[in-house]
Amino acid sequence: MPDLMSHLLIGLILAEMLNVKKKSIVVLGALVPDILAKIHLAYFYVGIEQPLTFVHFHTPLMAFLLSVVIAPLFQYKMFTTILYFNMGSISHFLADFPIKHFTEVGTIFFFPFSTKGYTLNWVWPEQSIYIFITTLLVYLLIKAVKAKNL
Ligand SMILES: [Zn+2]
Repeated sequence: MPDLMSHLLIGLILAEMLNVKKKSIVVLGALVPDILAKIHLAYFYVGIEQPLTFVHFHTPLMAFLLSVVIAPLFQYKMFTTILYFNMGSISHFLADFPIKHFTEVGTIFFFPFSTKGYTLNWVWPEQSIYIFITTLLVYLLIKAVKAKNL
């Protein structure tokens, strides 16, 4: 997984490129898959046995279900909220796709039909600093171009 800042920037870039007005919903969708999948860390810090696995929260289906559940909490149209949230979560899973893994098997795209993980094995997680720098430069470039056009 790229770091959360890279996921945030990728969501912002997507929202800027598609002229989405509610960028925060896209960014929320881009961040939530990793946050939900890390719930088990609370058990680690408390020092109790983990009763459940949260790995399957890091899947497109669970992101979609979460978007349907939380969409009424927003003041925007439900369909718009679900669409923007899932744009962000799809960007998250596509950004995770090229990452190499030692122990994990990759991104589980087709849960619950399959738990097979997919990865392109291109980038080690510690190399995500390059993704962060690149996405930051792309985002700043987009903002500069948009500011000049106004
Ligand atoms: Zn992830």
